[in-house]
Amino acid sequence: MSNQETSLILLKPDTVTKGRCGEVLKRFEEQGFKIRGVKLMKLSDELLAEHYSHLADKPFFPTIVGFMQSSPVVALALSGENAISRVRDLLGPTDSTKAEKGTIRGDLGEDMMINCAHASDSPESAAAELKRFFRDDEVLDY
Ligand code: ADP
Repeated sequence: MSNQETSLILLKPDTVTKGRCGEVLKRFEEQGFKIRGVKLMKLSDELLAEHYSHLADKPFFPTIVGFMQSSPVVALALSGENAISRVRDLLGPTDSTKAEKGTIRGDLGEDMMINCAHASDSPESAAAELKRFFRDDEVLDY
């Protein structure tokens, strides 16, 4: 049975400043994922506080905010069969130094924080995150 899902991806400042958006997007497109929404965004303090609320009490929270505001990010709404788990698999684990070669973080990430991209981790968070980054009319059906 088909399980079409849409995931919210952020190409983080390391990907943007190193000119690797194309490389990361190519890996998604090669797996058959479809771009339904895309935009370059500067992330506000408020948006990041919401997006990373599960980390708000960590000592490294301000460092993450600084990193995520060090350049614009590319937000993507990406659709496909089991997109949420399959995109996370393509990324590899949070810590790039522990990610296998062949995964995006394993090939392109630096460490625990500088790890190329964010991707939604469940259907519930995907729904909340898509609303956080895109208006309804910015996610296109085609
Ligand atoms: P993921 O992005 O893999 O879903 P989390 O939601 O746990 O992981 O963390 C969100 C982001 O916060 C990570 O992608 C990473 O950039 C940063 N981060 C998480 N844990 C740490 C840490 N211990 N030190 C530095 N940065 C971290």
